[in-house]
Amino acid sequence: MYKIPKDAEIADAIRRVLAKHKEVRSQSLFHEFVLGELKGISPYYKASSDRIKRVASKEGVKIFIDKRKSQKEAKFCFVCGGELETLKVKNLLGSEVSAGKKCKVCGFAMDRGHLAPRRYIFYK
Ligand SMILES: [Zn+2]
Repeated sequence: MYKIPKDAEIADAIRRVLAKHKEVRSQSLFHEFVLGELKGISPYYKASSDRIKRVASKEGVKIFIDKRKSQKEAKFCFVCGGELETLKVKNLLGSEVSAGKKCKVCGFAMDRGHLAPRRYIFYK
């Protein structure tokens, strides 16, 4: 059996983790630390790594994303899972070229479309 914590409880747990650690250098480690804090409230609490990342981003936690080139074009935001829109700029010849992508929800931007996340680093 398990219980679902509220966003506010996850946010508190995140604040406690970042009070102890200046930065956490992987998403799975961050997940583990935050779950550890949540277990202090209830041993049955469970939250997915992606949900914790979304709450962290909403709470203003800085998330550095180390990216790598990818064959596939990124469609969804690495931070919140929102839809990415392609940014276009006009080049000197007046034709539109892709200038990367931006998340419609949280504003996360990347300078090119064919990227995938390699590692997440969380810090205050
Ligand atoms: Zn986003």
